[in-house]
Amino acid sequence: MSRAGHGRSMLPIRWRLALWYAGFLLVTDGAVGVFILTTVERNLERQVDDALRLRASRVELQITTGDDEDLDPEDVATGLLELAPMEEFSAPGIYVQVRDDAGTTLASSGNLPAGQLPAAPEIITAALAGRETFANAPAEDERVRVLAQPVEKGERIVGIVLVGQSLRFVDATVRGLRQIIVAAAATVAVAALVGGWWLTTRALGPIAELTRVARQIAATGHFERRIAAPPARDELGDLTATINDMLARLERTFRRQREFLADASHELRGPLMVIRGNLDLLKLDLPDAERRESLREATEVVERMSRLASDLLFLAETDAPDTVERRPVVLHELAAEVWERARAVDAGSHELAFAQTEPVTVLGDRDRLAQMLWNLVENALRYTPDGGRVSLALRSNGRVADVTVADTGIGIPTEHLPRIFERFYRVDRARSREHGGAGLGLAIVRQTAELHGGQVHVRSDPGGGTTFTVSLPVERA
Ligand code: ADP
Repeated sequence: MSRAGHGRSMLPIRWRLALWYAGFLLVTDGAVGVFILTTVERNLERQVDDALRLRASRVELQITTGDDEDLDPEDVATGLLELAPMEEFSAPGIYVQVRDDAGTTLASSGNLPAGQLPAAPEIITAALAGRETFANAPAEDERVRVLAQPVEKGERIVGIVLVGQSLRFVDATVRGLRQIIVAAAATVAVAALVGGWWLTTRALGPIAELTRVARQIAATGHFERRIAAPPARDELGDLTATINDMLARLERTFRRQREFLADASHELRGPLMVIRGNLDLLKLDLPDAERRESLREATEVVERMSRLASDLLFLAETDAPDTVERRPVVLHELAAEVWERARAVDAGSHELAFAQTEPVTVLGDRDRLAQMLWNLVENALRYTPDGGRVSLALRSNGRVADVTVADTGIGIPTEHLPRIFERFYRVDRARSREHGGAGLGLAIVRQTAELHGGQVHVRSDPGGGTTFTVSLPVERA
């Protein structure tokens, strides 16, 4: 089978789902990772800042002991030297420098790489203006965080203290953390891809099987086949059950169609053979009386055939509901007309009774409704011995109109009741054919009733008579 024309080709669902899972996890992991990294980095920097501030205050305390107004370079150097052993100033990565109010360096801790702290001019200017300022500055192979803090004596700014701390540890921590997060996210994404693919493959596996079997059935026309239902009673189980129901319907429809064709050809062949036999007879040199008898028989059979043909046509047409009219039909008038016809045809053989109450209107096709009523009345007359009683009654409760055709005839054996509305179904083939019926009359009744939104029911008492009731929805003005 060709699969062209099924829209643009797409990645299989299981890949799409797996990719979506992995994508979502990656985005979530990424967001969480960025949040963790920025939080950790900010906290570490805050700790560094606190340490820098503390250190700057200690240095300031140490170097402002002299009593003169300005900073004395010697005092400063001595102060720093005294501080050094106690503090970790000589430790690698921690730097101190003191400058005077002109920005000139007075003293530095011994470990400064190029003798100068890499401090941006802006923070020096800011500190000289009295504002403590932090900045990150690149130095050789690391970043250094520098605090510039003004040194005040009385109201005057006499110099600045620069303290710096290498961010090597912070950067290494953040870098390590970032690597861990990236590795974890990648692992999770791969696991989601594989897991998602595995899960969806497992979940969708039955669909592949279902598609395979359905395609096979479509290709071979074996509508009696069924798709094995998956064990779980889930969406796929429902889908399988639905497809199986559809298959059962298709199977029934096809079987009925085949039977219908076979029955129809069979029904046509019988009369054709009778006609042919009579034509053959007519070719012979027969006495006038026999020729007339042959002609009469052939004509009768032709009539039966044309009735069969029109019944078949009726059924075929009502199979396509669009061809049926939907107009208000005054049902009691229609019933009266059918009843007049019955009176004429019966010519006094039966006792006939017609009862109707208020006027009723239904929506539908007048000719087809008339045919439906006539079929019921005709059957009642046909299957009721002379002298029996046949009645037609019309009742309505305002919503539903019931047309009842009752007789005191031969009745229908209970085992046949469920099937009498089927096409070509006859209780007693020989007897029925003798009356000219092909078994389509009640099929037409049911089809017409259903076409008008109604139903037909039968009650029968073999030997005691039969009652057919057609219920139709009333058209309310
Ligand atoms: P047919 O053309 O043979 O009458 P129908 O479809 O009208 O076909 O009826 C099907 C069968 O139902 C008939 O063969 C007949 O045996 C039975 N049947 C229908 N109506 C009656 C009735 N009023 N009384 C007894 N049997 C009936």
